[in-house]
Amino acid sequence: MSLSASQALAHLKTYSKKDGLSVRQLIDSSNFGGLTYNDFLILPGFINFPSSAVSLDVNLTKKITLKSPFVSSPMDTVTEENMAIHMALLGGIGIIHHNCSPDEQAEMVRKVKKYENGFINDPVVISPDVTVGEVKAFKSQLGFTSFPVTDNGKVGGKLVGIVTSRDVQFHDDNSSKVSEVMTTTLTTGKEGISLTEGNELLRSSKKGKLPIVDNDGKLVSLISLTDLQKNQEYPNASKSFHSKQLLCGASIGTMPADRERLQKLVDAGLDVVVVDSSNGSSIFQVDILKWIKETFPELQVIAGNVVTREQAALLIDAGADGLRIGMGSGSICITQEVMACGRPQGTAVFNVAEFANQFGVPCIADGGIGNIGHITKALALGASCVMMGGLLAGTSETPGDYYYRDGKRLKTYRGMGSVDAKEQTTSNANASTSRYFSESDKVFVAQGVSGSVVDKGSISKFVPYLFNGLQHSLQDIGAQSIDELKAKVISEDIRFEFRTASAQLEGGITGLHSYEKRLHN
Ligand code: GDP
Ligand code: GDP
Ligand code: 5GP
Repeated sequence: MSLSASQALAHLKTYSKKDGLSVRQLIDSSNFGGLTYNDFLILPGFINFPSSAVSLDVNLTKKITLKSPFVSSPMDTVTEENMAIHMALLGGIGIIHHNCSPDEQAEMVRKVKKYENGFINDPVVISPDVTVGEVKAFKSQLGFTSFPVTDNGKVGGKLVGIVTSRDVQFHDDNSSKVSEVMTTTLTTGKEGISLTEGNELLRSSKKGKLPIVDNDGKLVSLISLTDLQKNQEYPNASKSFHSKQLLCGASIGTMPADRERLQKLVDAGLDVVVVDSSNGSSIFQVDILKWIKETFPELQVIAGNVVTREQAALLIDAGADGLRIGMGSGSICITQEVMACGRPQGTAVFNVAEFANQFGVPCIADGGIGNIGHITKALALGASCVMMGGLLAGTSETPGDYYYRDGKRLKTYRGMGSVDAKEQTTSNANASTSRYFSESDKVFVAQGVSGSVVDKGSISKFVPYLFNGLQHSLQDIGAQSIDELKAKVISEDIRFEFRTASAQLEGGITGLHSYEKRLHN
């Protein structure tokens, strides 16, 4: 006899077990060994909110929060200043690689930090004697053309005028002094005003720049209208609370020289350092972690990589503010083959994150992220953020030029442990040597490959695609935030299912003669 439809919900309670598996049952299932993201699915939940209401706020480290969980990998074909600027504008963060000299890396950090500002406390200032030609040349060096003019050419000098591109653009005589062309009737803000008041003055005066002066008319700082526009255009941007500068990360190795490198990065304004080792549980990493925490107590430190609880415990104990999980799961990586070492990424993320989260240490799932579903799964297994190399490779913000092969527009993407990356390593750049190679080694054993990826366009379209896709994915699971997703996994309300080989086939595209896979418009 069938039950009436109105009894369905009540009848459900008579089942002793919930449908699907809890995360523990999924991970502990002895039949399967280590799990990868493709080995399981998450069962759908109840939707009573729009996908746009899903919050993707996360902790990158103990003290840094982001509005999205996206981190670009410190690889020399992925993250330099352009990627780091755009990742931060779009709500994530970029970690600048260290396969370059310390000065080059610090300069990249500086560019990210200078890209957007609240009060510009150290603006480039000129004296009245500077020539129009010199001002024009600054544009190509610095990227901006407005300069406050003070009597001594320094911050703290008496403000006597301002020169902008409009003052010099059509002035043909490059030998003229700035004092002849600058604007001298100025709208200024008084030292001590809030950023909101300063911005209001900028808006009402319809000027591009607002110099801030003290009671004696001496220049203190500058506010730029461009920054207000940037703030409006990128509401999710990852910024320091007070300075409004973009957050920036960078990687270092564990060699003695990396301590000097880090000093330069910190001087440039670095917010978070990633200690970059393929196996983070080493005496070298423990030593440098302790040194960093003593020397730069304000700097956030992400340690790794780790894939076991034991490795995690060592680095948490040494002071890590965040952990990076993954060994051998990267798309360009051959570590598991060559070293017999590593762990399937799903199992690694769950075991490490479950342990680390008890100590308030957020984890980044690093490597093997090939689509939005993988991101959701990494977060459901306990990661706070995902680090991406291959998924962002080929976008216009990555370093390197496009080239054509077989009619396709391509860019190079390579492992930092590949022979290619090693060969590009100069004497004072050590990303690949320190991560995958000891300097005393005579023969280089590659742990990565070099290849090419197809042009993916700009991350200003791709990252919003990831953001919206992740919101939809969490909506399907019935979680209105990443925190809720994790809480419901722990409370076993969110359920999982294994995915057999044929289930994976079924979940792919089948039966078509041909198709084009376009991910977004
Ligand atoms: P918001 O949520 O980004 O607006 O952050 P706040 O509430 O802290 O902003 C305080 C004021 O600073 C508001 O008037 C913002 O519009 C403004 N603001 C935020 N970011 C920037 C920036 O990068 N530069 C400038 N000049 N103003 C900013
Ligand atoms: P400009 O009008 O040509 O000077 O340049 P924009 O206003 O278009 O861009 C200036 C951008 O550079 C803003 O985002 C500033 O925050 C940033 N910036 C960083 N340092 C300085 C500085 O010393 N002077 C100026 N003018 N801008 C700076
Ligand atoms: P992807 O996002 O491409 O799957 O993986 C990127 C991650 O692979 C990086 O963040 C880094 O942890 C790791 N990786 C980068 N280069 C190499 C390499 O040469 N060998 C190995 N084993 N891992 C690499």
